[in-house]
Amino acid sequence: MTSFRFKALKQTINRKPIKFIEPRKHSESFGINVFSENTMRQYLTKDAYEGVMNAMNYGSKIDRKIADQVASSMKDWAMAKGVTHYTHWFQPLTGGTAEKHDAFFEPIGGGNAIERFGGSELVQQEPDASSFPSGGIRNTFEARGYTAWDPTSPAFIYGTTLCIPTIFVAYTGEALDNKTPLLRALQSVDKHATAIAKYFDKNVKKVTASLGWEQEYFLIDKALVISRPDLIMTGRTLLGHSSAKGQQLDDHYFGSIPQRALNFMRELEFECMKLGIPVKTRHNEVAPNQFELAPIYEEANLAVDHNSLLMDVMGKVASKHNFRILFHEKPFAGINGSGKHNNWSLSTNTGINLLSPSKTPMRNLQFLTFFINTIKAIREYEELMRAGIASASNDHRLGANEAPPAIISVFIGEQLTKVLNDLEGVTDGKLSPEEKTDLKLNVVGKIPEILLDNTDRNRTSPFAFTGNKFEFRAVGSQANCAKPMTILNTIVAKQLKDFKIEVDSLIKNKDLKKDEAIFNVLREYIKQSKDILFEGNGYSIEWEKEAKKRGLSNNKTTPIALKSKISQKTIDLYGEMKVMSEVEIKARHEIQLDEYSLRIQIEGRVLGDIALNHVVPTAVNYQNILIKNVTGLKKVFGNEFEAIAKDQMDLIRKISEHIAGITTKTNLMIEERKKANLIEEAEAKAIDYCDKVRPYFDEVRYHCDKLELMIDDELWPLTKYREMLFTR
Ligand code: ADP
Ligand code: MG
Repeated sequence: MTSFRFKALKQTINRKPIKFIEPRKHSESFGINVFSENTMRQYLTKDAYEGVMNAMNYGSKIDRKIADQVASSMKDWAMAKGVTHYTHWFQPLTGGTAEKHDAFFEPIGGGNAIERFGGSELVQQEPDASSFPSGGIRNTFEARGYTAWDPTSPAFIYGTTLCIPTIFVAYTGEALDNKTPLLRALQSVDKHATAIAKYFDKNVKKVTASLGWEQEYFLIDKALVISRPDLIMTGRTLLGHSSAKGQQLDDHYFGSIPQRALNFMRELEFECMKLGIPVKTRHNEVAPNQFELAPIYEEANLAVDHNSLLMDVMGKVASKHNFRILFHEKPFAGINGSGKHNNWSLSTNTGINLLSPSKTPMRNLQFLTFFINTIKAIREYEELMRAGIASASNDHRLGANEAPPAIISVFIGEQLTKVLNDLEGVTDGKLSPEEKTDLKLNVVGKIPEILLDNTDRNRTSPFAFTGNKFEFRAVGSQANCAKPMTILNTIVAKQLKDFKIEVDSLIKNKDLKKDEAIFNVLREYIKQSKDILFEGNGYSIEWEKEAKKRGLSNNKTTPIALKSKISQKTIDLYGEMKVMSEVEIKARHEIQLDEYSLRIQIEGRVLGDIALNHVVPTAVNYQNILIKNVTGLKKVFGNEFEAIAKDQMDLIRKISEHIAGITTKTNLMIEERKKANLIEEAEAKAIDYCDKVRPYFDEVRYHCDKLELMIDDELWPLTKYREMLFTR
């Protein structure tokens, strides 16, 4: 009998690389399938073009006549490229993307038909889509969901379908997706950051948040993935003994990319080019068969769309190359998991990166203003930031053996630490002319354009300043970046709003000059937020203790971390910044808790199945072989046999012990699951799944992994770690 495992291995070994002939220059294919600014200029009348551009840049409404024109031009453009269908493309609260295709085709009677796509179809659709989670928002029959065009993210062609990025909202106005709150947060940060940027330059009209994500993933042969029920059902291996060689030699990181993987990457990059996703960097990551892909940063909403689209494209291209992508944060125990660093900055329409130090003292004061306000925002809302990256799968990274830790802290490097220390000593109230000069020349003026720490950065920090941007490193590889980006931009917006009130009040009531007022407020902010700064090893036990002393949160599991999403502080924040209503907040919280429980439930079921129906029978088979051997030895050696068969008998006993371990623990887990399932309330249920069900996973796994080491390799049914990680 050849097992599934050996068939998969044979298939993998015999794979021929799929050829891919890439075009000579990527720049020639860049954006050819995007209804971009350039395409619009060609296809739209001047009025229509300006209408869309104004909507994109300043959020103005697009009137019906213009929408008709845009739709008709989009259709002509798309049809010339072989497109037959269109879809409103959106991001429901499942975290993925959704599409429902409709044909342009329309019968017009008399046996004739035409291709049609009007403004109304472009602007709004009612996909029903009632099966997406809504957290109770759509419980009433009249609460239909509809999608509405987001002109800030350009339409694109994917396959033979014209995709129109849209928001997804209930008939009653509540957001049912991840994009709507993000757009509101971006609007808010634009408004409040622009007001502050005007302190320094009256010409600033708009501030844009930028996002550059770095996507990590595992690339494993399709046959090997399919041979593992746990990978198919849960995205991670629920058991499997670590292989003798893992990542300890550090020989994979930045190593030469294997040919099959490279062919996949080249085709993927070509597909991304056509879709206007500006992918730039590819390299091997730390773990075997782990890779990273990063684009050039873009406006945050577009970057989020591009990341969601990319994850979909990756799956399709991988399949063509006989691979499966593992996006899970921890597909294999004992080796690195995957994250998705979110690099974030703010820039003005005048082309200034507000988080970039510069040559002039004035510009550096502006830099410090945004820099310190961001740190203060993180200090105030560290717990919400943690909540923004919480998921069952990311829990395996955060606060588990592998960092970043579940404690949010900010790394700024030695040079900027010194600047903040100096600023902390600024005199209260009015500054003497000497002090002003000193500050400008020796503190603010001394910040170099390029920071040394930029190259020597602390990889253990969850939120690090890296020269001209902050890098939020704790985001999970499967995450929709809209979630952390909504939080970050909202808290910074709120902080900047408060900052303006304080500065203006000092100017008005204390008769301070603008820069004096700014220095004064920044000084207080440094004092208030110093606790969040940490330059040491974020993975260490000492930091956990220190952070506790400082009063920083350390919420290791999702159900607990999520609590801060519905705290009064959060409800007030989102209400004030007009990002989410209480109904929207609570709905999301409930959806996330439900999702958590469901994921643990599924893992529990799959683990139970594998343990009882794959591992135990294999162990029994092998034990029978040993028993036969021992009985045979007894026949041959008579009285002497006990000494001769000692090891086999030991093994027989140990196998029995582990079988007993598996069955007992699995049954206890099933009992706990039954109890958890009876709990109605979402949070209590999630906590039960977390605290009562999940701990059995490791216990069951322990016995299974021990058996893997004892049982004849020929009989073991599950593809092993070394095979998944090193066969190519
Ligand atoms: P790494 O962190 O792997 O060393 P880099 O720091 O060079 O790599 O860049 C990582 C990501 O940061 C890229 O996606 C890049 O486009 C993005 N990035 C660079 N500058 C900015 C910025 N000002 N704002 C947002 N993202 C940025
Ligand atoms: Mg990075």
